[in-house]
Amino acid sequence: MSSASTPLIPKMINGISQRSDDPAVQTSSNSQQRSSSTHSSVKKKGVKDFELGKTLGEGSYSTVVAARDRTTGREYAIKILDKKHIIKEKKVKYVNIEKNTLNKMNHPGIVRLYFTFQDHNSLCILLYHAKNGELLTFIKKLGSFDLNCTRYYTSQILAAIEYMHDQGVIHRDLKPENILLDEKMHIKVTDFGTAKILGKNVAGETDDRANSFVGTAEYVSPELLKEKAACKSSDFWALGCILYQLIAGRPPFKGGNEYMTFQKIVHLDYTFPEGFPPVAKDLVKKLLVLNPAERLGAGGKEGVKQLKSHPFFDGVRWDTLWQQPAPRLLPYLPPKPHEEELRTDTSIYEEKISNVSVDNGNSPVASGLEARDPFRLESWASTDGSEKIDPERAGKLEEQKRTSAQWLPFLLRTELILRTGPINKRKGFFSKRRLLILTDFPRLIYVDQEKMTQKGEIYWSSRMVVELKNKKHFFVHTPRKTYYFEDPNGTASDWVNKINAVLIENYGGML
Ligand code: ATP
Repeated sequence: MSSASTPLIPKMINGISQRSDDPAVQTSSNSQQRSSSTHSSVKKKGVKDFELGKTLGEGSYSTVVAARDRTTGREYAIKILDKKHIIKEKKVKYVNIEKNTLNKMNHPGIVRLYFTFQDHNSLCILLYHAKNGELLTFIKKLGSFDLNCTRYYTSQILAAIEYMHDQGVIHRDLKPENILLDEKMHIKVTDFGTAKILGKNVAGETDDRANSFVGTAEYVSPELLKEKAACKSSDFWALGCILYQLIAGRPPFKGGNEYMTFQKIVHLDYTFPEGFPPVAKDLVKKLLVLNPAERLGAGGKEGVKQLKSHPFFDGVRWDTLWQQPAPRLLPYLPPKPHEEELRTDTSIYEEKISNVSVDNGNSPVASGLEARDPFRLESWASTDGSEKIDPERAGKLEEQKRTSAQWLPFLLRTELILRTGPINKRKGFFSKRRLLILTDFPRLIYVDQEKMTQKGEIYWSSRMVVELKNKKHFFVHTPRKTYYFEDPNGTASDWVNKINAVLIENYGGML
């Protein structure tokens, strides 16, 4: 660090700044006493007191890493900011905003700041570790959320917004990347670097406007683009964008570049995909209103009350929101007229599916290595290296060469096809026509029939779960992803039965 920049740092974060509600501090009923009596014992805490783990994320100006307190064993996330870089990029102000706003927050839906410290090169912010990462990852994994999940997460986000507004803070950059999920799959809003603490104006009234251009293109409100001013209502605009995205799988305003996205926002140029649930559509329309004063939620406490009373939130128990278990994550299935709902009893899969839902993709299964049974292939190889295939199988392979010659380029030499068929691989409201091939290796691959290229493979493991939704629809849940297939021939149950049979044959004892 250059000597010229050094004096700035103590102004930013002066040594240790300890919150009285830090779990490292023994709690007592008096918070004043708490912080003063424990201050000396934590005074020297620094990065050396933590065992640093894996990188959880990279921001524009920070790296966030998992950390364990060497003394207490407690787990945290440490946001590490490079002092030189922060000063060079003139972001000192934003570091302070983040620290000051987070310091004011004490809510189950907002990431907790425990304390801050620094060493020669870095500023460190010790945060609650949200173990399940970003909401965006789950939207991508499922393609979209069903109405029940969407209602649950929208309610939690709204409750967090209500709390921060009550504290006089506008977030100004709400988006699925900044909404983290804890181990219970409850939300934790993060990234207050662009937040605004509303002050008092000269007349002593709360200044409800915040004058600086911040945010992320897709979620930025029209008032920020047109008048360069954000207000509490700007967070409700972002809520409308997130609600839309949870169901549609993509944000409402997305142009080819930032400028085009902005143009769409200021002209309210967005459409709903067919099948978007009417009650959610109505709420989105009332949130995505150009005039911030007319947006549902605007107008202080009464506005928020009206927003919470919208029929979309019918049935939400606001008083026990944080005690309720998160619903099983399922993608949204746009209704098809005249389609008979053939719901199966999925209770036997429930436990496995819920494990799948919260898996953050770090399990060894994700590598696919568990998928293959090495002995299956070994058993075909003789000691001289040539293949020894039992006559019955050899006959079937010969037959396959004649009947399914076109699929041979996608198969291994001794692999037998169990089932093929056209499917629509769906992601939210969008789908792609593919050919699905199930083999006895086992493998489940999908192919672009026109281009004759393999587009993907679903990795097998004992944690794969296949679920029949109705005549035409079924899910394949893997720890990393949920695949949503539509069988145009209405034989989804055949697929499910065949895949289940293969699962039982390969992992019978483990299921
Ligand atoms: P940006 O460039 O968006 O402004 P930033 O520098 O402010 O980013 P954050 O958004 O706070 O950094 O963090 C970057 C990423 O690190 C997050 O998107 C998230 O994936 C991860 N992360 C941050 N805080 C936590 C946390 N408390 N627990 C788990 N992961 C976290």
